[in-house]
Amino acid sequence: MRLGRTLPPAAAPVSPGGLISGLKGMIRGAAELRRFEGELKAYHGAEHVFLVSSGKAALWLILKALHRLCPDRDEVVIPAFTCYSVPSAVLRAGLRMRLCDIDPDTLDFDYPSLEELVSAETAGRLLAVIPTHLFGVPADVGRVRRLAQGTPITVIEDAAQALGGHARGRRLGTLGDVGFISLGRGKALTTVEGGVVLTSRGDIAAAIAEEVARLKGYTAPGLMGLAVQATALALFTDPRLFWFPKALPFLRLGETHLEPRFPLRQMSGLQAGLARGWRQTLGQVAATRQANARAWAAALKGCGALRPPKAVDPSTSLLRYPLLVRDPGQRQAIVQESERCGLGVMRAYPESLDRLDGLAMHTDGAGCPGARSVARQLVTLPVHRYVTGGDRHRIKGMLCTHPGSRVC
Ligand SMILES: *Cc1c(COP(=O)(O)O)cnc(C)c1O
Repeated sequence: MRLGRTLPPAAAPVSPGGLISGLKGMIRGAAELRRFEGELKAYHGAEHVFLVSSGKAALWLILKALHRLCPDRDEVVIPAFTCYSVPSAVLRAGLRMRLCDIDPDTLDFDYPSLEELVSAETAGRLLAVIPTHLFGVPADVGRVRRLAQGTPITVIEDAAQALGGHARGRRLGTLGDVGFISLGRGKALTTVEGGVVLTSRGDIAAAIAEEVARLKGYTAPGLMGLAVQATALALFTDPRLFWFPKALPFLRLGETHLEPRFPLRQMSGLQAGLARGWRQTLGQVAATRQANARAWAAALKGCGALRPPKAVDPSTSLLRYPLLVRDPGQRQAIVQESERCGLGVMRAYPESLDRLDGLAMHTDGAGCPGARSVARQLVTLPVHRYVTGGDRHRIKGMLCTHPGSRVC
């Protein structure tokens, strides 16, 4: 356990001003939610926006609505390497998963595998495909749409990590039939927890509206909990203090779990209030992240032990900077040394989904070699505003000079 300066993985800003807006938002209630909804619609050019308690809840809502529109289809194609929230939401919606392998060069689907899934005999059961902008690296949603064209398969864009990003001049989150964003703690912008559904499809929106109406709002203790967590985020995200919450085992910070029993709630005015001024905040966050991604690309050029996936363009605003370490043993040493020195270099998700026991019965057992190799080789570097030149120097030493060597 480290007691001392520790870089947090994400560090989405929560300011004292934001806390006050949050309290005002709680009092304003529905009016505050309408404001946030209106801003999100205008920003994305989306006709319908729904606000709920998490990205998982947003995905659950989408799946429930789609299944109601298409009751004879009950399978969802998801990437074999993604946030465990995704399979959690599929399970919670009572649907089955088909895993599609990913391409380590793009972190997007392995398209030959996707084509096979979509044209297979079993494709008649496919309800939806979920392309994902992992770490903010844009997935080729247009290509997925072309594959799904002429079928009843819906394209759900997982923009959980990609608020504010764009591809070919269009905002991420608006490229599929329906998309969702997460405002959880580990994302670029946070309302402690929160999820946004975006769509311009009237039929999908109508089905979602019915599902949302059935969800309850937060309870009073739930709101208290949010306020406490927001305050903790405002206090402890600074690297000088982050070691403290990180050292508390019951907070389980940075762990990833399959949790199909997550809460489903409508978003509260408190969360919408915390988001007040988000466009300006997001602009600043994006500029910092871009500058840091560029700095990583420059610093790590010619570093033999590792490389970014080919599709990583350092001029995009990434959530974290992904790298593949050729030797999984070195990867392990790097992650351990980072943990010891508080440098914020982390794996992403511990396993590819085809290796998760709880899911085994939902997969074909064909295996997903791309996803497995990414799960073994990936490290991600922090790109938030707390990363200093000194951090960069130490991290570079640990990654390149002698991978996993002692730097503190
Ligand atoms: C975070 C995340 C989600 C789910 O969001 P939560 O708000 O944590 O429920 C879904 N997909 C991806 C890729 C994510 O990173």
